[in-house]
Amino acid sequence: MKALFYDGSLRLLHDYARPVPSKGEALIRVLVAAVCGTDLEVGKGYKSFRGVPGHEFVGVVESVNEADPSLVGKRVTGEINCGCGLCGRCSSGMEKHCNERTTLGIDRRDGAFAEYLTLPARNLWEIPAGLPDEEAVFIEPLAAVYEVLEQCHVRPGDTVLVLGDGPVGLLVSFVVARTGARVVVWGRHEEKLRVARAQNIGTRNGDDAAYREKFDIVVEATGTAEGFNVAVDHAEARGTIIVKSTVAGRGEIDLSRLVVDEITVVGSRCGPFAPAISALARRLIDVRPLISAVFPFDRALEAFARTEEKGVIKVLLDLRQP
Ligand SMILES: [Zn+2]
Ligand SMILES: [Zn+2]
Repeated sequence: MKALFYDGSLRLLHDYARPVPSKGEALIRVLVAAVCGTDLEVGKGYKSFRGVPGHEFVGVVESVNEADPSLVGKRVTGEINCGCGLCGRCSSGMEKHCNERTTLGIDRRDGAFAEYLTLPARNLWEIPAGLPDEEAVFIEPLAAVYEVLEQCHVRPGDTVLVLGDGPVGLLVSFVVARTGARVVVWGRHEEKLRVARAQNIGTRNGDDAAYREKFDIVVEATGTAEGFNVAVDHAEARGTIIVKSTVAGRGEIDLSRLVVDEITVVGSRCGPFAPAISALARRLIDVRPLISAVFPFDRALEAFARTEEKGVIKVLLDLRQP
């Protein structure tokens, strides 16, 4: 099968072995996949990953191996963390924190930038019929954004600063704004901030050393090691910083500032699929303005390069045409 393969450099292979589902797994034919900032970090050494990257996808179940046969033919997306299924964390529903877990396209498990992938059947979520592939591919990143609301009680009238105007930052602003909080997205790209403004969300563009406004909640989604210290600068005393960036590099942190201002720091990764699917299906969240380009899979390398270009929010790979 065709697959994008990373082993220090990224290349498109035409003869990569089609994966074989293990017991309890499904074989999924990928329809649409999306390139994520994490994929670009994987390409810089994050998790020392070797294999097929990609974890945001929509596909059709082709077959199952000792799993629910009614899944076959269903259009699905999937949770990306695959726990051992045996340990205490897995049995208490915390598979995403299983110490033995593999993660689709990120950690010891081939991912979605290929014609086929495998995932445990229990990770799969059926996609509602009316939701197009190009929007359903946002379910996984949107679920990760809903995790913010699980971890931090956002009240109407709270002030929330979102650092970063990439897809995560913009999706956070859409979701948090629906709670009645006063949200400001701070980024460096006018064309991306415009997408937030179109939904009546406040924006701020560019660096300004004199800017000192404090917020109840700061969501760090810059995708950079430096973003955290900016978050500390703008967190109110007793406020909360939610960290979304997973970066291959490390930055210096002055912990004393967190102590003095009694700031809570929350790491935030994958999240609940149900509210993400519901929000998209009911059109409460409109992800269409985030789609910058759709590339046929044969031009996947070009799609990766496009993702790093200025002003580009989300690039999709279309595997539907042969
Ligand atoms: Zn992602
Ligand atoms: Zn486990």
